[in-house]
Amino acid sequence: MRNVVLFGPPGAGKGTQSEILLQRYGLIHLSTGDIFRANIKGQTELGQQAKAFMDKGELVPDSLTISMLESEVAKHPQANGFIFDGFPRTSAQADALDAFLQGKGNAITCMLALEVNEDELIKRLLNRASTSGRADDADESIVRNRIAVYNRETAPVADYYRSQNKYRGVQGVGSVEEITTRLCAELDAFIEA
Ligand code: AMP
Repeated sequence: MRNVVLFGPPGAGKGTQSEILLQRYGLIHLSTGDIFRANIKGQTELGQQAKAFMDKGELVPDSLTISMLESEVAKHPQANGFIFDGFPRTSAQADALDAFLQGKGNAITCMLALEVNEDELIKRLLNRASTSGRADDADESIVRNRIAVYNRETAPVADYYRSQNKYRGVQGVGSVEEITTRLCAELDAFIEA
């Protein structure tokens, strides 16, 4: 089983690249942001709880996020593996994911991190607002808060995978195809190892 964490700040291109990689490697794409948004649309209790945090660009509490992620994984017992997009975003989530996978005799294969500078991220997110329809993309102060939250709470998660020699950074600026090629080269190296 191959389990890939596609990592990077908001606007780095995780969703776009996940859609390509899942086809290439036959993986299931789990985006916690997408799942929360589907819950908000479906007016579930989880959606209502998550919305208050998402509207401000804050993280949804770990307890809610971890149990939601675990139940999503459990929906795909036959999966070849997963691309985790937007998860883990805290050290507690990384610990929980490891324990959860270990309980199933699995592990994270690697973390691939898309590296994009902050000015480019802000530009991309504000541009994306017109097509994503996401309120958290349209408001520059919320966009900046999401990036600050990423730097403060999420970026340290990379060290967790670095210490296991599972982390690779990839330049996230260029054409979609160029970035896919870089990601696949890193992922293939982990698969062949
Ligand atoms: P994204 O679609 O990944 O940009 O996520 C949008 C929003 O969903 C984030 O700003 C958070 O409020 C929430 N969110 C998504 N994934 C997580 C996570 N792993 N932990 C906590 N909050 C999350």
